[in-house]
Amino acid sequence: MKVLVCGGAGYIGSHMVRHLVGDGVSTVVFDNLSTGHRESVGDTAFVRGDLLDATQLRDLFSQHRFDAVMHFCARSLVGESVQQPYAYYENNVAGTLNLLQAMRDASVGKLVFSSTAAVFGHPESELIDESHPTRPINPYGASKRMVETILEDAARAYGLRSVALRYFNAAGASPQGDIGESHSPETHLIPNMLRAANGDAPSLKVFGNDYSTPDGTCVRDYVHVDDLADAHSRALDFMASNEGAHAFNLGNGAGFSVMQMIHAAGEVAKQPIPFEIAPRRAGDPDRLVASSGKARRELGWQPRYTDIADIIDTAWRWHRNPRY
Ligand code: UDP
Repeated sequence: MKVLVCGGAGYIGSHMVRHLVGDGVSTVVFDNLSTGHRESVGDTAFVRGDLLDATQLRDLFSQHRFDAVMHFCARSLVGESVQQPYAYYENNVAGTLNLLQAMRDASVGKLVFSSTAAVFGHPESELIDESHPTRPINPYGASKRMVETILEDAARAYGLRSVALRYFNAAGASPQGDIGESHSPETHLIPNMLRAANGDAPSLKVFGNDYSTPDGTCVRDYVHVDDLADAHSRALDFMASNEGAHAFNLGNGAGFSVMQMIHAAGEVAKQPIPFEIAPRRAGDPDRLVASSGKARRELGWQPRYTDIADIIDTAWRWHRNPRY
């Protein structure tokens, strides 16, 4: 089995690559290194390139006979997507279309696609399952939902098999401590809390405390990056016996507010996290918590990290000594 991992030098992609290599799967990483890190890929075959370059993609598919593609390449910041929607639609939608066309030309018929809880928009229920309406409220979520629609059409027209995995909040790092989350500038909650704990940032800005949640701060469902990688491998197996385009929500089913996360991170780091209340960030819904029953039933997925302290602890191991 040979798998192309687009975006394999990024945070989730690099954990996926490690997972595949551990399973003995032949893996090729394709990444433009706009936000990824070459060091995170190690010895795995690596091609630096961009999905917007159709010629380069054609060459890649002519050099390798892939059985499946995992697609992690994306711009993924909600706030930035509100400011720069064209960049999001170009990279996330047009780039994916190039990939799909190259796959079709090379008769590669299976794709695992990184989708997001942001496809749902404002939640209409405590737990969000796959029957929840998809009405994204920011260009990031809209770009991912557009790709899901394209995959549904591609299943009908071309027989493409696909699984869209809608991550809630990817969190943590490999317990080995040698790969982890590193963005510049860093925008995500857990890295920013731990940077404040380390003294790498003066304090954490809490984006809004007037949401309709118990303590006024946004509630999210944090799921460990290795559990996400495991779901991707299961999605590959699933496509072996299931035609069509499928979508699964991936989360732990437990919501934590920003203030609860600050408390939990303070316990892990054994020091209080300095914070200040700041204005709301554009595009953030109050609460996003998954029902992952479908993934559990149909993929046999069972997250191993269910305790938020354990998840933060793996991130803390990385942030105390980041390699990149
Ligand atoms: N957040 C925050 N301060 C930060 C980063 C994030 O208060 O420095 C909040 C953010 O508004 C959201 C939650 O933490 O409610 C998770 O944000 P993150 O960017 O980690 O993930 P997202 O939910 O955007 O995928």
